[in-house]
Amino acid sequence: MNFTPGANDFSEAVESDRAHVWHHLSQHKRYETTDPMVMIEGKGLRLWDAQGREFLDAVSGGVWTVNVGYGRTSIADAVRDQLVKLNFFANSAGNIPGALFAQKLIEKMPGMSRVYFSNSGSEANEKAYKIIRQIAHNKYGGKKHKILYRERDYHGTTITALSTTSQNQRRDQYGPFTPGFVEVPHCLEYRSQFGPCEDYGVRAAKAIEDVILREGPDTVGGIVLEPVTAGGGVITPPEGYWETVQEICRKYDILLHIDEVVCGMGRTGKWFGYQHYGVKPDIVTMAKGVASGYAAISCTVTTEAVFDEFKSDPSDPMSYFRDISTFGGCAAGPAAALENLRIIEDENLLENTTQMGDYLMGRLEELKQKHDIIGDVRGKGLFCGAELVSDRETKEPAPEHIVQAVTADCMAQGVIIGATNRSFDSFNNTLCLSPALICTRNDIDAIVNAVDGALERATAS
Ligand code: PMP
Repeated sequence: MNFTPGANDFSEAVESDRAHVWHHLSQHKRYETTDPMVMIEGKGLRLWDAQGREFLDAVSGGVWTVNVGYGRTSIADAVRDQLVKLNFFANSAGNIPGALFAQKLIEKMPGMSRVYFSNSGSEANEKAYKIIRQIAHNKYGGKKHKILYRERDYHGTTITALSTTSQNQRRDQYGPFTPGFVEVPHCLEYRSQFGPCEDYGVRAAKAIEDVILREGPDTVGGIVLEPVTAGGGVITPPEGYWETVQEICRKYDILLHIDEVVCGMGRTGKWFGYQHYGVKPDIVTMAKGVASGYAAISCTVTTEAVFDEFKSDPSDPMSYFRDISTFGGCAAGPAAALENLRIIEDENLLENTTQMGDYLMGRLEELKQKHDIIGDVRGKGLFCGAELVSDRETKEPAPEHIVQAVTADCMAQGVIIGATNRSFDSFNNTLCLSPALICTRNDIDAIVNAVDGALERATAS
């Protein structure tokens, strides 16, 4: 840490923040009586705020982003070196780190071929929808324009990305939404729509086919799915699910778009979440972990077959992808991404993620034995969740104030954990633990011990 808690005075910055900054997802009324949190510095999994408090970050920047940890000077150096050479030119021309990163990325994604750069997960998804729509227009006269999305999944914050998001708290008051997007049922076996059954995964996937048949297969051009659902409750797919989804997509000629904004870049122990399930997507989107938050960059990656749909006689003004993202041409993003990828590879972080993920899941199973309030634990790699319930038999979700008490208690102990889907429907109850991919057993023990104590206190009365 480069500042001494107490010796540095950040009060002016805190007051400016209170006066002028509008924080994401925050009710500012509370800052009339408490200070807003202002982060100052980070190293590894540790963070320090303006009050000099130290935190162990169990959600990688709060939103599954800082995969390689804080304080990576080699990424900062790579960005600086690139910026002094060339900061920007519109991505209608290439740049050196963009070309090198695209090549490295495609090496990690057999079957994929082309990388389209933009700035955020929402934007990467919107590009994918536009690709699907343009193919629908070029090939099917616009008929196959509908895109399916799944209950509980989240795909972003812009109005159209939100139109493919099935979380009421995020959507309410922002409609009307973009037409042409249709919801399919979720695949959370713990809350099976069919009651207990042997073949839940296959049935949950077949429920997608029912929607396709209802809508008319000749009207459906694409489907967007998270490999492991993040904000919707850390939902790992049930057995047989992805194989059946793939079959359905092939059967009805539907493009499979996998949203790897959270799972991508090692979070689940493979480069991409879909790679656990033998799926062959047509389009993959990614953002957060691509540069671990050292620069803003997202990617929409397609197969060569998808890309080929946009190749035509250069005199045809309508065939190419008529899309631009100004800052998709900022060279800082791919420079950071290239070094981020090198770190994940050279430091064997996929292996560490698998090992530490297994350890974290084991420790969460122990907590489940001890605390009746934990109804289910789920996860893949360092992407884990513990669903809280008031009653294990009925699976009644734990009330929001308990979930908030647990996260606040952990924060008071100096451990930042997440909770998915708070306060918008009956699924407001999954604690989220996703430390950086560099974490150790000691880090995990500290995180789990904090959660243990918090659960103890939250359920004591
Ligand atoms: N997809 C998923 C699965 C996400 O979790 C998120 C963000 N949490 C997004 C897309 C949107 O990303 P961004 O906030 O960068 O637009």
